[in-house]
Amino acid sequence: MSGATERLAGIRLVAFDVDGVFTDGRFYLSDDGVESKTFHTQDGFGVRELLRAGVAVAVISGRRSGAVERRMTELRVPHIVQGCKDKVAALEEIAGATGIAAGECAYVGDDIPDLPLLQHVGVSIAVANGVEQVRAYCDYTTSARGGFGAVREVCEMVLSAKGEPS
Ligand SMILES: [Mg+2]
Repeated sequence: MSGATERLAGIRLVAFDVDGVFTDGRFYLSDDGVESKTFHTQDGFGVRELLRAGVAVAVISGRRSGAVERRMTELRVPHIVQGCKDKVAALEEIAGATGIAAGECAYVGDDIPDLPLLQHVGVSIAVANGVEQVRAYCDYTTSARGGFGAVREVCEMVLSAKGEPS
């Protein structure tokens, strides 16, 4: 087992960026400022399976949108942080509240603002559509693109490292 695979098996919390990870990075903005995004239903099942296996899930987004709140609440994601200016601090707050160490967390991101948190956690994961610097840094890069099953792939990767049937 490589170091990263071993760390993946010990992961107790998976945190995800939203834009470019749960979505393809695009969003629709109406004249009155309402944002809408497209989520993938297969990602939802992956998140549910992760939670069912006792792995905590968090989403940490730099933007703020009602659609994200609604979708993540629907999936019963216990930690939803939006409008986040400091993702490392947000994860530390969740870690403190849950008693989970940063080394037992995985983070999934796609862009430069994700790098400090990717460098802070035990397992760093980039999505296929991530920018080059992020993909170059991370322990893993998904085959699927954000919004097209990348989240599901990460959920299955974590569960399979833990020996959970999927
Ligand atoms: Mg992003």
